[in-house]
Amino acid sequence: MADCLFCSIIAGEIPSKKVYEDEWVYAFEDISPVAPHHVLLIPKEHIASVNEITAENSAAVAKIYEAAGKIAQQLGIAQEGYRIVTNCGEKAGQTVFHLHFHLIAGRDLQWPPG
Ligand code: 5GP
Ligand code: ZN
Repeated sequence: MADCLFCSIIAGEIPSKKVYEDEWVYAFEDISPVAPHHVLLIPKEHIASVNEITAENSAAVAKIYEAAGKIAQQLGIAQEGYRIVTNCGEKAGQTVFHLHFHLIAGRDLQWPPG
């Protein structure tokens, strides 16, 4: 999609530090990490937010969770634990309107999030 930052990253027009890629999913390091490990997992298809997940495109979400487990193994954090977070909408803190899942790990994470 034109004018979408994460579509431009998938297309390679904007550089990113790739962590994982398959037919459905692209994962890369967050430019402004909030923990020692902070990876963003995104569907290759443009979906603006959780509000736009439908029966037709929801398979990508399952693929993202499948990829998350592989990435956790790859990073060596599968056993110690990690968090996957999605912000939906401005009040929740969503700033990029291409669906993404933050995978965060490497420190003690507080609950509930702020
Ligand atoms: P949100 O606030 O929408 O939940 O998350 C957007 C995330 O994208 C933020 O954590 C932010 O640091 C990250 N981000 C924004 N622009 C870029 C970029 O150009 N490259 C990378 N790698 N991450 C970005
Ligand atoms: Zn997009």
